[in-house]
Amino acid sequence: MSLAFLLTTRSSAIVWRGPKKTAMVRQFLTSVLWPPTDYLLIDTPPGTSDEHISLVETLLKDVTTPPPATNGNSNGASSTPRSRPQLAGAVIVTTPQAVAISDVKKELNFCRKTGVKVLGVVENMSGYVCECCGVSTNLFSKGGGELMAREFGVPFLGGVPLDGQWGVLVEEGVRPRYGGVANSGDGDDGEDTGGGRGDEGAEAEQQSNGNGDGVWNREREEGLLVDKYRNCSLSPMFAEITRKMVEKVETGTAVSVRGAV
Ligand SMILES: [Zn+2]
Repeated sequence: MSLAFLLTTRSSAIVWRGPKKTAMVRQFLTSVLWPPTDYLLIDTPPGTSDEHISLVETLLKDVTTPPPATNGNSNGASSTPRSRPQLAGAVIVTTPQAVAISDVKKELNFCRKTGVKVLGVVENMSGYVCECCGVSTNLFSKGGGELMAREFGVPFLGGVPLDGQWGVLVEEGVRPRYGGVANSGDGDDGEDTGGGRGDEGAEAEQQSNGNGDGVWNREREEGLLVDKYRNCSLSPMFAEITRKMVEKVETGTAVSVRGAV
């Protein structure tokens, strides 16, 4: 669900004060007919403002998710619905630079004040993946996110580098390539290595980067985005972060912020 779905044009601006934002957040959580979901991910803007406060207020009001409605007629299934915390926890995203980290510390302190548990910290822009060879270098300092996590006594989930091929994938639907060839994947979670990669060797050369005058000569390729995504250097990293996160949600092991203020 997104406010963007309700706008008349994609470029419409929303000029709202706090109370209206608060009402919208509540309505999204309580009035939208959500289908059965495994997880509800809420991507919030940076900061500790109206959106965050009304989100937390609404989510913490009903502490656990209600059991599925049975409509009074027993259908024979005797599985007892497990009640789980409605708000499993927050994932804090930072970048490695000191200036960003000092901002993100406010988010951690927000979690502490409002009693929101933390699933962990992710360091974004954690290095840069070279388009030629797929090697990641640290453009900025690295490890600030991990340090902050330790300082606050919350888990560090992992770092995600910048990868130009990711941008090309989501913007243009082009399968990620490093040095002109499709990445063979890092094999970490590589049960699925088939994935229709056989046919891109030939076209790989002509898929090289934008050519100086800013013209992109890539053609949109056939195939599902999710399948092409497996060729992205970020895919195994996201998989690992997700695995850790889901484990913490399922086992209810998100932690309260303890450390530095
Ligand atoms: Zn390189």
